[in-house]
Amino acid sequence: MLQNNLKIYNTLSRKKENFEPIHAPFVGMYVCGPTVYGEAHLGHARPAITFDVVFRYLKYLGYHVRYVRNITDVGHLTSDADEGEDKILKKAKQEQLEPMEVVQFYTNSYHKSIEALNCLPPSIEPHASGHIIEQQEMVQKLLNNGFAYQNNGSVYFDVETYNRKHHYGKLSGRNIDELYANTRELDGQTDKKNPFDFAVWKKAEPEHLQRWKSNWGEGFPGWHLECSVMSTKYLGETFDIHGGGMDLLFPHHECEIAQSVGASGHEAVKYWMHNNMITINGQKMGKSLGNFITLTELFTGNHKLLHQAYSGMTIRFFILQAHYRSTLDFSNEALQASEKGLQRLLKGAKTLENLKTSQNSSFDLNEFEQKCFEAINDDFNTPILIAHLFEQLTIINRIAAGTDQISPSHLEKLKKLFSDFLFEILGLKEDNLQNSQTEDLEQVMSILLEIRQKAKENKDWQAADFIRNKLNEVGITLKDNKEGVAWEKS
Ligand code: ZN
Repeated sequence: MLQNNLKIYNTLSRKKENFEPIHAPFVGMYVCGPTVYGEAHLGHARPAITFDVVFRYLKYLGYHVRYVRNITDVGHLTSDADEGEDKILKKAKQEQLEPMEVVQFYTNSYHKSIEALNCLPPSIEPHASGHIIEQQEMVQKLLNNGFAYQNNGSVYFDVETYNRKHHYGKLSGRNIDELYANTRELDGQTDKKNPFDFAVWKKAEPEHLQRWKSNWGEGFPGWHLECSVMSTKYLGETFDIHGGGMDLLFPHHECEIAQSVGASGHEAVKYWMHNNMITINGQKMGKSLGNFITLTELFTGNHKLLHQAYSGMTIRFFILQAHYRSTLDFSNEALQASEKGLQRLLKGAKTLENLKTSQNSSFDLNEFEQKCFEAINDDFNTPILIAHLFEQLTIINRIAAGTDQISPSHLEKLKKLFSDFLFEILGLKEDNLQNSQTEDLEQVMSILLEIRQKAKENKDWQAADFIRNKLNEVGITLKDNKEGVAWEKS
């Protein structure tokens, strides 16, 4: 089904562009993954879900998608200015663990949390630490091409020289004059020529544990380098989509462009996509603000800001109810509304399974189909798509009530459309928790109804009424009908 009118907003051109893969039907997609030194949190959920929908929809359209999402396990320092401690080493010291133990522990934990959000695993998940040789090769290319310089065991990217030939800052809309104005003066402690130069290879101090031999002495690669190297290693010198959170736009992605152009002479990425951030009650999430929420805390409800536990599917639906380029504010009220909304849609999908058909349909199914595709093709506009699903839900409920009609062929088509969009493309599913609770309730109800039936057969009306009234009190209504007794939870 390669007929596609998909438009993607390209951060680089600042407009929506028709999606035309470089080597259709193959699509290469690279997304910056986590630095694995702590529990996955709410901020990790948004890029994971955003690009999962991109992955799912491209596959749905019939493309062969190779989705690469890296694991950063080396060289991500606590400050962007090539200063501060290595995030993973800091954790390893705190917990007296081997750095790769920290990496493994938090990689496993990340996988578990992201799986609960029903994100498909990427096609390849490369680690920075597994690509040191390739990163050294790129450092050497940058040195050979005159875009990097060596000083005191470290190698830095020469932004000024690069900018004479190319535009450093094109992705984030900066220029070098602003960089001069906005960066601090060198304090004499640094080996850099200019404060905005960035490390592609960093000398390892004696206490630094993750270190590799190189032509420039023992050290480790600069954080930005791994993505330039691993994306092109697995997707080719040019590939289609590069994604990540907006917080990575500068300096990380800007540096990636400069490295790729500096090493190979041309850009690697056709479409740059960035998801916006999640705020919490209007504030940026941060450990110092006390509003830092891990995904495990969300799943268990174990955090002072949380009124209850939220399932992976509720969080996923909540995130998809906003466009990925809009900010999204987290609150208990918003998540509770998402929980209810999702249950209504899932119930609608079940109602759809048991609809009775008529000769004709009293509504326009083509219009629904067209509107859904228009929404998703418009730069993955999931909130509009979800609004169309809710409109259709109203019709489904009207058909169930006998107010609207549907023909057998339309019913088949509607079932497919509804489940394609809800389950396959948006990646939603029945919550395991909700599911098992529903199953338990159904079993208990069938026992109760059997007891009530026996009571009626014995003309014990008092017992039969007692069961009906007590159930009523907890919101379950019984309705006697021809087939027996039906029950409904309000
Ligand atoms: Zn990256």
